[in-house]
Amino acid sequence: MNILIIGSGGREHAIAWKLSQSEKLNQLFIAPGNAGTSEVGTNVNIGVSDFLGIKKTVLENEIELVIVGPEVPLVEGIHDFFLGDNEIKNVAVIGPQQYAAQLEGSKEFAKEFMERHGIPTAVYKSFTNENLTEGHSFIEGLNAPYVLKADGLAAGKGVVILNDLQEAKDELTDMLTNEKFGEASSTVVIEEFLDGIEMSCFILTDGTSYVNLPSAKDYKRIGEGDVGLNTGGMGAVSPVPFASKELLEKIEEKVIKRTVDGLIKDGIPYKGFIFFGLIIVNNEPMVIEYNCRMGDPETEVVIPLVQSDLLELFIATANNSLDKASVKIDERSATTVMLVSGGYPEAYEKGKKITGVENVKDSIVFHAGTAKKEDNSIVTNGGRVIAITSFGSDFKEALATSYKNVEKVNFEKKNFRTDIGFDLG
Ligand code: ATP
Repeated sequence: MNILIIGSGGREHAIAWKLSQSEKLNQLFIAPGNAGTSEVGTNVNIGVSDFLGIKKTVLENEIELVIVGPEVPLVEGIHDFFLGDNEIKNVAVIGPQQYAAQLEGSKEFAKEFMERHGIPTAVYKSFTNENLTEGHSFIEGLNAPYVLKADGLAAGKGVVILNDLQEAKDELTDMLTNEKFGEASSTVVIEEFLDGIEMSCFILTDGTSYVNLPSAKDYKRIGEGDVGLNTGGMGAVSPVPFASKELLEKIEEKVIKRTVDGLIKDGIPYKGFIFFGLIIVNNEPMVIEYNCRMGDPETEVVIPLVQSDLLELFIATANNSLDKASVKIDERSATTVMLVSGGYPEAYEKGKKITGVENVKDSIVFHAGTAKKEDNSIVTNGGRVIAITSFGSDFKEALATSYKNVEKVNFEKKNFRTDIGFDLG
């Protein structure tokens, strides 16, 4: 089978790496990919939102299955584009249609869905510029800290948490009236602050059945001890060591099953991954967000723990036969540490030569922002550059291997967090 993966991050490299091990794979293409994906498949220089370019690639290379890595093309309706075009409508797409992708693309849609289906989440209300005054009164009725969320996609920057009442009210005005996040903040969800520990769960679903993937915890802030600016993610651990069997069962009953049943009840087809962003409060899971795709860097720890053939699971997703599939999961722990460009998540330089990848032992190197030059050397091409994934009998052992190999890969102004997993005991 010929496959196309859409995206260019560590997530897409991890998926490509896994699919390249499948006996069912014939040719693998990645659009646009990175230096790492070019080692396991063929990169095609097409942007993730260039639907016509993607269609052309699909036809030229007789692609039968497309895996959409990032959220933007899903929210823009890439799956619907395939379904609506006679020439490619029979190509299977892993990733939901536009309507269902609103679970990630619209916080208000997600909150209404959760409310409708009894899925535990923070108390909330949403506002537009028309009812700004009511929004201010709503904030006054809450206790600090105040959580304000731009409804739409804002590249991970649309959630603002403030301690000061006046600042929170000003922020609401800024979002609604001054369109701080453009169209994305024309509606704002204000919700109760949840005090607990974060973790994420993942499923692959065909819309009626699903398979569970290992849980994970990522580290979003740039600074040690989880301080400073938010990034796309500086590292991750899987499974989450504090997630007991009892907690995972609760998550399955109260969150996962209710979500999949909710999709069925609402008549919303869904083929693809669902990422459940959770805060555990007093041992009870609360959903803070849905993502309609895998996370990055969580994919770099979750997918290597999947021992089953991922392509077979994708085919079962496409054919509505996930109920007959079973997933074998590695019992070890996996960790990843992200090497980033100095300055990231603010301004940083690209084009720095990356050396030492060949010296890495006992870890997997997943490329994110990398590019291959004509002389085959590899250079930095983004903020997050390389993820170093390792296994261990527990997360500490895995981390020790990741950190040993972090030292071997070098580029000018390399930065990374030395404390991934610091809060896990
Ligand atoms: P992402 O980049 O993870 O996709 P996002 O912009 O979709 O983020 P959320 O995941 O909803 O936004 O929130 C971002 C972060 O804000 C969360 O990881 C969490 O730390 C914090 N947060 C969100 N909602 C709450 C809440 N109700 N109480 C406490 N913290 C919250």
